Amino acid sequence: MLGRRRELASADTGSFRTHPDQGATDCLMQLTSTLTCPHCGHRASETMPTDTCQFFYECTGCGTLLRPEAGDCCVFCSYGDVPCPPIQEAEQTGRPASCCSGS
Ligand SMILES: [Zn+2]
Repeated sequence: MLGRRRELASADTGSFRTHPDQGATDCLMQLTSTLTCPHCGHRASETMPTDTCQFFYECTGCGTLLRPEAGDCCVFCSYGDVPCPPIQEAEQTGRPASCCSGS
């Protein structure tokens, strides 16, 4: 009985180590983007919200408040290496991004 308990415990630690992703993704959506600050060049990996666009981002290097460039819906589209989830979805489905529609 004691042996069985230990087996369970080690299996627990194993699953903790082998899952860098948070949650299940049903499509090829990337939820982490590396933002590069245009002022100081600082790079930071940030997790993107899936249901909303992040308009402001404070650089963790120099503290500058970044805003999207004209035509971009969020800071990830302007400064990240991966565009935000709604844009990724739009690219995959060929439909306009839900977050950026309207005026
Ligand atoms: Zn910066």
